[in-house]
Amino acid sequence: MGLSRLLPRPITRASFSHGSSHVSRVIAFANQKGGVAKTTTTLNLGVAFKEQGFKVLGIDLDPQGNLTMSQGWNPDEIERSMYEVLVHQLPIEEIIRPAEIDIAVSSIDLAGAELVLTSMIGRERALERALRPIKDRYDYILIDTPPSLGLLTINALVACDGVIVPVQCEYLSLRGLAQLQNTMSMIRENLNPNVDIQGILPTMFDRRLLHAREAIEILKENFGDLVYNTRIRKTVRFAEAPVKGQSVLTYDPTSEAAMLYRDLAKEVLNGAKAREHA
Ligand code: ADP
Ligand code: MG
Repeated sequence: MGLSRLLPRPITRASFSHGSSHVSRVIAFANQKGGVAKTTTTLNLGVAFKEQGFKVLGIDLDPQGNLTMSQGWNPDEIERSMYEVLVHQLPIEEIIRPAEIDIAVSSIDLAGAELVLTSMIGRERALERALRPIKDRYDYILIDTPPSLGLLTINALVACDGVIVPVQCEYLSLRGLAQLQNTMSMIRENLNPNVDIQGILPTMFDRRLLHAREAIEILKENFGDLVYNTRIRKTVRFAEAPVKGQSVLTYDPTSEAAMLYRDLAKEVLNGAKAREHA
């Protein structure tokens, strides 16, 4: 897999297939630490996939609704959201809104979902069930998760084929990864034998800082090939774009920030392709 990442092989929808029948890939973006760029990565990688011709759905599974906000909607004014989908089995297409990518929106109600789900049978599979009827309409379904390892994140880990873990390039950020891995191995044993880390994405990288470079070295020592070559640099563009209700790829298409997410998209697509031929 390592070598395939280095090959300059642009993959577009035309040259890419998941196999004979259409199966979407479901990727969860998880890290129980907040502020590591889960939401930013869900949106911008999603838009980069879309630029390659893929049909993409983003799912906002965070009660804070940052992914929803990043497309210009106010979660406080949203009546029906992933809450109704998970708790009342409302068909997910009823809360999907078209934007840069399609978004299954969140609202503040979602904060109550963890509690309500706790007493429901099949509580860990509510999202997986909700996705089943619409799965074949999308090439990629990207799930943005809240900063915790509670039931909402567990639903994402059960519903997904792989997990991308954004990590801030700091020592302290690396410590939470063991806990995330423990949660995933419990889920592998009981709920989803396939769930695993698909890749680790260094974010908010400042190459001038020694400790940022060292943090990447530590990541590589521990996770080897799983660490993407793409490092998302620290830039104010990522704070500016959501204010306009846009991804960085739309807000400033030629910026380095936009190019880095396009690089990441190629790496993720190459990785998937390499596995397919393994
Ligand atoms: P999470 O979803 O993990 O909590 P966010 O994606 O919301 O993290 O990012 C946290 C904050 O950092 C946001 O204000 C976002 O705009 C900003 N941010 C994200 N990526 C970068 C980056 N590469 N450089 C600078 N700021 C960033
Ligand atoms: Mg977030």
